[in-house]
Order: sequence, then structure tokens, then C-alpha cells
Amino acid sequence: MIAHTAEPAQLFVESLTNAGYRWRHPRSPHADGGLLFGAVRREGGSVALQWGVHTGRLGALPEAVPLTARRTVSAAWVGPRAPQDVLGDMFEALGACGLGRDMVVCRMADQARAGDPVRAALARLGIPQTGEGPDIEAPPCAPRRMRGTHGVLLSLDCQIGPACSAACAPGCLCGRYLHLGDGRFTGPARAAGLPVFEFLAAEDAISCGSAQLGDPFDLPPLRGLLESVGARLPELLSLPAPGQALRLVVDHIRAVALLLATGSVPGPRGPAHTTRRLLRRAAGSVVLAGAPAAGMADLVALAGSAHGFPALSVAARHLVERETAAFDRAVAAGHRHFLRCLARRPTPDELAAELARLRSERGVPLALTLNWCRQQGISVPLPLIAAADVRDA
Ligand SMILES: [Zn+2]
Repeated sequence: MIAHTAEPAQLFVESLTNAGYRWRHPRSPHADGGLLFGAVRREGGSVALQWGVHTGRLGALPEAVPLTARRTVSAAWVGPRAPQDVLGDMFEALGACGLGRDMVVCRMADQARAGDPVRAALARLGIPQTGEGPDIEAPPCAPRRMRGTHGVLLSLDCQIGPACSAACAPGCLCGRYLHLGDGRFTGPARAAGLPVFEFLAAEDAISCGSAQLGDPFDLPPLRGLLESVGARLPELLSLPAPGQALRLVVDHIRAVALLLATGSVPGPRGPAHTTRRLLRRAAGSVVLAGAPAAGMADLVALAGSAHGFPALSVAARHLVERETAAFDRAVAAGHRHFLRCLARRPTPDELAAELARLRSERGVPLALTLNWCRQQGISVPLPLIAAADVRDA
């Protein structure tokens, strides 16, 4: 469906298919829990390389990390087999990506005796284990069965650069330990009465680990996109936090490019609404920087070709152009409305209510209307806007 180049994640997949694992075709990036295999029933190994879009953390983006659109490698073994052999396949595949056993550290959730055979297997494979504790959780993109406390959960970190101190360990704020992926052994209660081992890792983490980079935006396709988008939209670099705005735009347009490539055009409901939301959020940052959103279709096409997605169809490009033009119009109409409101000399409560309505009824992002207020030398307390928003809801 989507072309990919021979990158570390591809080498991971090749290592496992060479060892006899079955290749699973990718599913829609919207598929529920689609990163792994749903109900895996056939005995033996399987491996997949799957794009997914995760908007759960959109509201808490410091620098658009974790990425909204990520490709994930996942592998599973179904059937009775010694943990050492199953884990051996995984570490062999990680080694094929340039992640040697000396670079990887394994943490295990504190699951008492259930984890003993896995601990012993890791020790025999020469994988350092550290930082046991109940804090290990599967990533938010993992299927529900990889969360919770069932089975034996492993978390793999890759070491980047030297230790900051003698106490440097996974979780250290110096950034030496990059979260690579998660694995889980479940007992024979799962999948037609057979034990299952599953492993899930983000492609950008594997690529960062093998290139010894701590930031996915330093990887080739993203670094190039940051530079291209920054050159086309120099206005973004004039914002108070230019790196952050640029990253958000790049993160969102590549997710939109992926969604368009898989047939999710912007629309009011379901997956189409995810595309619309991401496009509008990116457009909001562009307009906030003082540039029109109308040129976004070119940026989306650029992000798509940088990742090897199929070229944007004429119809998809037309829809993106229509969507961004509608956004520009909504912002312009909202600005006129805002100025008319100001001419009536509103009380702070009335102005807060207007800003809340501009957001909820006309789709003008609050960041934009607050910026208009700043330009007029007005400050509107956020609690007033929040209260007005609640009254409107
Ligand atoms: Zn450290």
C-alpha cells in the first residue's frame, strides 16, 4: 500500500522473515489496536510494519513528540517456546538494525515469580536488566491487551551517548535512555489456548537508536522537512517559540499526508474528522505566524513525498485546498466579528464570551483570538473564557 525504503525498521522485519516469521500486511492507520495482530491464532511467528495515527497527546505537545503519525514494527510468536529462543529472535532482529545487545537495557514490571524464566533468559542472552518496578507501561498506541498487569511486561531502552553520572539509569532526565519498545509474554489463556509473546517498537525510536540520535526530528526525512517548511514559511520562525511551531506544523502535515494517502479526506466525522482537525491545527499555527493557510496543500504533498507515500491525488489536493481556504475565510470573518465586538466596548465577561463563541461556532483557534487581543493591548483572563465556554456547552 505504502512504499518504504530500506531503513532500520525494514532490516528488523527482514531479519524475522528470514527466520521464518510470516509477513502481515498493514491495515488502516485507524484500525483499532491495529499495530499488532488482533487475535493471533496461528502457531508460529508473524511480523508487521504498520503506520498509525495517534491524536491522544495532541493537547500536550511540547515539541510534537511523540510523533502523531508513526510507523511501528510489531512481532509476535504464538505457541510453546522457550523465552530465550523467542527473545533471541527479537535481539537478533534489533542487532540487524544496528542495535547490539550492549546498547539495549531491559526493564521488567515487578511481577514476582511469573517473570523469573524471562529474567533468566535475558541473563543468558547477556541483556542488562535494570530499574524493575511497577512503572512500566505499554505505549498509548499499544492494543488494550498490552496494558494492565496480565502476563510479563518488558520495556526496552536504548543507550545514547555516555552516562551523565554513576546513578544514570532508564528514566534519567539527561536523555541517555531512549524508549525503544515493549514486549509481553502472556500465558496459554490467550489466543486459542497458546502462549503468546508480542513485541512492539516505534520505527523512529529504532532509527534514533541506531543513528545514536535523541530526537526524531534529527532523522533524515523529518530534518529535511523542518528545513523545507521553515524555508517556505519563514513567518513560523518569527513566533515566540519558532522551533515548537515548526515542529507542530511538520508533525501534523505528515500525519495529514499519511491519512490522505490511505483515503481519509478531511470531513466532519470519524477518521475524516481526524484529518480535518490535524489540518486545521497546522493551519492555525501558520495563520498565527501571519501567513495564509492556503499554501498548505503544497506542504502536505511535500511531506508525503518525503515519506514515500503515494502522490496526492488531484481530488485530495483539491479537498485540502478547499479546507484551508475555508479556514482562511473563517479566520477573516472571525476577525471582522472580533473588531465589531470591540467597537461596542465589551466588558471582560462579554469579550470572553465572544472569544469562546468564535472558537466553538466559527472554528477560530483560541491562540489566534488571544493574539488579536494582545495586538489591541487587551488581556482577557483565561478563567473567564473557560467559564464562558462551559456556559455555552
Ligand atoms: Zn543520565
